[in-house]
Amino acid sequence: MFVRRRWTALATTSILIAAVLSHPGPGAAAPAAPALTLAPTETALVRVQLADRAQLDRLVAGGADLANRPRSRDGRLIADLVLTGRQLTDLTRQGATALQVVQRADDGTRRIAESRRAAQERTRAGLRASGAAAVDTLQFLQAYWWTTGGRTFVQAQVATTASDDPDVEITVTWRTADGATGSFPLYRFEDSGEYQYHYALPQPAPGRPVQFTATSSLGGTSRPVTPSLWPNASPPPQPAGYQKDFIDAYLTPVDIKARIARLGRQYRDLVDVIDLPNKTQGYRRNAAAYLGDPAAAAVVVESVRFGDQGMNGVQVRTVDPGRPSRPLSMRYRDRVLTISLATDRAGKVTSTTDDVAALINAPRGARFRATVEEGSAGLPMPVTGPVRLDDGLQGTEVPARPWTVQALRIGKHRDGSRIGVLAYSQEHAREWATPLVTLEFAERLLANARTDAATRKLLEQVDVFVIPTVNPDGANYSFHDYNFQRKNLVNHCAGEARDPKYRNMWGVDVNRNYTVGSLFDGYVGASTNCLAGNYAGTAELSEPESRNVIDLAKAHPNIKFAMNVHSYGGYFMWPPGAYKADGRVTLPRPSIDESTLFLASARRIVGAIAAERGTVTWPSQTGPVADVLYSAAGNSADQLYYELGIFAWDFEVGNDRWNEATGQWEGVGFQPPFDEAHGEAQEYAGGLVELVRVARDYAASNPVRR
Ligand SMILES: [Zn+2]
Repeated sequence: MFVRRRWTALATTSILIAAVLSHPGPGAAAPAAPALTLAPTETALVRVQLADRAQLDRLVAGGADLANRPRSRDGRLIADLVLTGRQLTDLTRQGATALQVVQRADDGTRRIAESRRAAQERTRAGLRASGAAAVDTLQFLQAYWWTTGGRTFVQAQVATTASDDPDVEITVTWRTADGATGSFPLYRFEDSGEYQYHYALPQPAPGRPVQFTATSSLGGTSRPVTPSLWPNASPPPQPAGYQKDFIDAYLTPVDIKARIARLGRQYRDLVDVIDLPNKTQGYRRNAAAYLGDPAAAAVVVESVRFGDQGMNGVQVRTVDPGRPSRPLSMRYRDRVLTISLATDRAGKVTSTTDDVAALINAPRGARFRATVEEGSAGLPMPVTGPVRLDDGLQGTEVPARPWTVQALRIGKHRDGSRIGVLAYSQEHAREWATPLVTLEFAERLLANARTDAATRKLLEQVDVFVIPTVNPDGANYSFHDYNFQRKNLVNHCAGEARDPKYRNMWGVDVNRNYTVGSLFDGYVGASTNCLAGNYAGTAELSEPESRNVIDLAKAHPNIKFAMNVHSYGGYFMWPPGAYKADGRVTLPRPSIDESTLFLASARRIVGAIAAERGTVTWPSQTGPVADVLYSAAGNSADQLYYELGIFAWDFEVGNDRWNEATGQWEGVGFQPPFDEAHGEAQEYAGGLVELVRVARDYAASNPVRR
């Protein structure tokens, strides 16, 4: 009954869309969007409808914190951005519209979307009359259907030969076995200025479709095609008593370290704990303070050593010597840095902010560094202080020393004689669900090796490596200081960019710091700006976090498969992951045989993910990174694949959820309510177990060469 009502509603929607397309005009059938507002200094993850592609290009050029690939929906560009209320206001003035506050900063209790605007029907003017121009030819690139949670969805990609015409409208019509029909519009997808294809987000349908046809506003018609079941692959059934569900809360790096130690003790015969060779900076920062009033005249003073190295609490002040004709001078005694300002013959203070900063920076091997606050250059230096230097870090349970990143090595024969599989997670600090995925995976293998013959046999045949948290320093900062922290905790900035007001923007994007297809090689999707969300670092592999991943892979040449676990959005991807802007030249495409292996294996793994709670990763989001997400210069999977010959995939866990009430797909964000994160851990751990089976099957026909 329910399904039937939905179907009626759908049919009405199709008619409505047709009506809107035939009679374009202002305000057609589009409910007004509710106002989504942020306080000026509030930071949030917001789904934004951009004014045009130029606005997106400006955002990317400016190093905007894009959470996933901007999508084309209803003919408009939709992007998820981490931004402040002020930045959002600016964007809105330039024609953007906020669609969804996916998640606010530090709102532990309300981390799901608060509201969502109703769908706006497309009202594009200038729709061409059918037959007014040359007829184009249409070709289906994808035609799929699947069922999840009792609801059937369809998805299609169609290419038109009229690829240079931005106004071509393409509509897909489906028919079910019992004769029901419906249709939905596709939207043009361009990337880097080049037409790719037309597509739409998955659409609900009343039952299994048996035929798709596509028509265009230029009069083109496709041949009817029979849509395929996606992914049409199921993992072996889990035997009765199969053990799972080992994660009951989010895990900080401190928790993860304890979990790794426990697994090492509990399963000695199956596990080695590997200390990776490159220690990270640790949860540490330089201690800093504003000397003066940042709104008037100030100098930023910071310690050269980290705050925890005896520098937190050190005091800094300027004094008037009270006598005429004194030079500017500095003294450090009893943890107080005293700067005595210069005076003229009349005893009036003459030092400027620049003088004071230069003095602090002058000594060789200086203990302190200083920069003049933006807008304070050349101003008289006030008599002020003392102020206390502080590193600003809030986490009290985190040891303040360099961190040793660890890997688990799991298998019966950990001697390089078995094919190796590497799973690694949390390159990006804020992706809290990702270490839950890799740890649930590790625990499933270990626990079931004792109780399930198939798992025991699997661990005879493979050599599994797991790095649950690649970026523990950033993760600690994300848990304790700023939940949207993506990068690591180093600060490569110089000058004014070291101002503590930028503290949440420092760090290197670990997954842009690798050597193949990098920013330094001229590829797109990373930044030279130390404050950008995708800052590539000072050089390829400048960061210990990225060196650890590569060193582990190089030290174990039996590793032939790898999975880089990220969140969110529900993607399953493989190389190439980057292209050059000019002409959109990607890294070399895999051979036909390798592409076949990537796709066939992906379908198995997507099927295993779906087996856990029905989550189906869309066919439109399964494919090469450069095609389905964006160009990510210098990402780890590309180095593993092109340099080390490893079949290297990426997960973006956390698929959009279908909201039956609104008929919209909704984003889940980086730190969803734990129930959702738990679900993601369960389903993607199932996907990783299937990856191990893929590797085992590969090894059966391609024995490991030692
Ligand atoms: Zn990520």
